Amino acid sequence: MTTLPPDPTPRALHGVPSYLDKNNLGPWEIYLEQVDRVTPYLGKLSYWAETLKRPKRILIVDVPIHLDDGTVAHFEGYRIQHNTSRGPAKGGVRFHQDVTLSEVMALSAWMTIKNAAVNLPYGGGKGGVRIDPRNYSQGELERLTRRYTTEIGLVIGPEKDIPAPDVNTNPQTMAWMMDTYSMNVGRTATGVVTGKPVQLGGSLGRADATGRGVFVAGAQALIKLGLALEGVKVAVQGFGNVGYAAARIFHDHGARVVAIQDVSGTIFSAGGLDPYAVQAHLQATGSVTGFAGSDTLKGAEFWQVPCDILIPAALEKQITADNAGQIQARVVVEGANGPTTPAADDILRARGVTVVPDVLANAGGVTVSYFEWVQDFSSFFWTEDEINARLDRIMSEAFNSLWDVAERHSVTLRTAAYIVACTRVLEARALRGLYP
Ligand code: GLU
Repeated sequence: MTTLPPDPTPRALHGVPSYLDKNNLGPWEIYLEQVDRVTPYLGKLSYWAETLKRPKRILIVDVPIHLDDGTVAHFEGYRIQHNTSRGPAKGGVRFHQDVTLSEVMALSAWMTIKNAAVNLPYGGGKGGVRIDPRNYSQGELERLTRRYTTEIGLVIGPEKDIPAPDVNTNPQTMAWMMDTYSMNVGRTATGVVTGKPVQLGGSLGRADATGRGVFVAGAQALIKLGLALEGVKVAVQGFGNVGYAAARIFHDHGARVVAIQDVSGTIFSAGGLDPYAVQAHLQATGSVTGFAGSDTLKGAEFWQVPCDILIPAALEKQITADNAGQIQARVVVEGANGPTTPAADDILRARGVTVVPDVLANAGGVTVSYFEWVQDFSSFFWTEDEINARLDRIMSEAFNSLWDVAERHSVTLRTAAYIVACTRVLEARALRGLYP
């Protein structure tokens, strides 16, 4: 590594950007606290740590569309490239009514950490549009997606920044994004997004990849804690792409899914819920509640459910200082991004609950996105078994090496993941140097 100049003086902190306003940070505040917790372990690389606290590039776009009733509506969209030291920016696009700049900043930074933690050759990025998609038709959502893609077309590209699905976006959304970008550049560019339908250069195994990775990470944690998978009690918050796949795969391996919570309600059955049947019930009725043989719980009661594994697979800031003390699980496996606040992390640690952090637990999705991107470049596609075998290997090796780092430093798995990831990012930063 190159010789470092002396420590930065306070002068280096002049011109603090508004998003560092300590009074109003939102999810970004959680991320900053997570970085502060890792800085003491970075040695000389901490010289560059400020780089992690500032997104490289933020694009805020206006997304106007014609609604079906002939009026025009405007939506706020974002694409943020948090870091590109190790490769192009990579991360999903979320459509949600609560999307904010602070949230997308945090999500983009968590992608930087996640990609580095599992050693994918990417930086971190994220996008979002502030919209409640439940209130719009397919045609309106297609127009929104195409206009948003055109607006962020300035910064995305197969070698620059590669979006993917996230909350409320799916393979159809990616097909529209791929088509729009391709029409704008005058050639079919399948590698500009991942999570596409398999008919359009998508990868086998991508749809279930995040849930599968959650399962692999959870199963590795059980091995470390000496717990058998058979009959283990699982509670899942969120029953979308991640939560449903994770519940299904745990169920397929003999685990008992005892509680499911989503936007429509919370259900519990000590004897176990069949996730396939709950999904069919949800499709038929629009709610998980009322599922045969289940009890309906109040939302807050979900956190007190007797279980061994708790999988938050919805949104940020779900496990807080208010409910962390009630959690019965031995292991929390974070399918969502940012579901646990730092204060809750401390409570869980003191209570001996193992937290498999988001940047490891839900990395299966972006790992198979990486496979998809590689396959698109080479126009050569792997079988689903090959994809799953590679995914399982990457997830279990990452879990075990982070477990060793956590033991060596007597820190949580989250801090271990940040030590490994921030070291990789900042080594790349230091080697590249500042330009100009
Ligand atoms: N949205 C997913 C995540 O948060 C996947 C991102 C990707 O595949 O690029 O990790």
